[in-house]
Amino acid sequence: MRYLVLSDIHANMEALETVLEVAGDLAYDRLLVLGDLVGYGADPNAVVERVRALAPSALIRGNHDKVGAGVESAEGFNAVARNAIRWTYDALTTENRTWLAALPAGPFVVDELLEICHGTPFDEDAYVFDDLDALRALNAMQRPVCLFGHTHVQVGYALTGDQFTLTTLDEARPLVLPLADGARHLLNPGSVGQPRDGDPRAGFAIADTKRREVTMYRAEYPVQKAQARILAEGLPDVLAQRLARGR
Ligand code: ZN
Repeated sequence: MRYLVLSDIHANMEALETVLEVAGDLAYDRLLVLGDLVGYGADPNAVVERVRALAPSALIRGNHDKVGAGVESAEGFNAVARNAIRWTYDALTTENRTWLAALPAGPFVVDELLEICHGTPFDEDAYVFDDLDALRALNAMQRPVCLFGHTHVQVGYALTGDQFTLTTLDEARPLVLPLADGARHLLNPGSVGQPRDGDPRAGFAIADTKRREVTMYRAEYPVQKAQARILAEGLPDVLAQRLARGR
């Protein structure tokens, strides 16, 4: 089985369309979505409707989906994120808001090899920023491979017995990560719609369970169009600017 893995699309329709086009040539069977379909970007309805139409085989909510749908308050959000999520709540149609509100929380077990979560397997809203966070997540996994999002950073960690490794991803893409037998892997495909690892290209991954490998990809998309949409909707300028920097 080949899974296309998308996370943190964040209402960026330009990035989503580009990724789907590139991924279409990579012959995947099923789609996994790790949450944060909306928030920050200018096209929450278009993104929700596009993802719905793709009928993902697994789809979990992110923190922005919860707040954007009115399931949770924006209390923990910074001023810019709060501004954007209030705009998102108002912009969403009732139907799309209801659909987002009903998304399940992670973690979600996909098959014998894979599980998905938004933040971590022990807390959907927690971030994996450092080795300690990663170790805690690796020890909470129910499957050998956990695909996660939330940080918007394409990254990989592995645990083989007691040996912990951080997979540095500073090489060219696509980058194939073999899934070693007997190891646990914690992998972030990066963010489709708002990368924060210094590379403005949209991040995504393909998980191939038969070949036992996950391949990390980046796709160049029309950033300026996404920026223009953000400015046209009156969302904070900084949300447009950061797309060009990938921060
Ligand atoms: Zn996010």
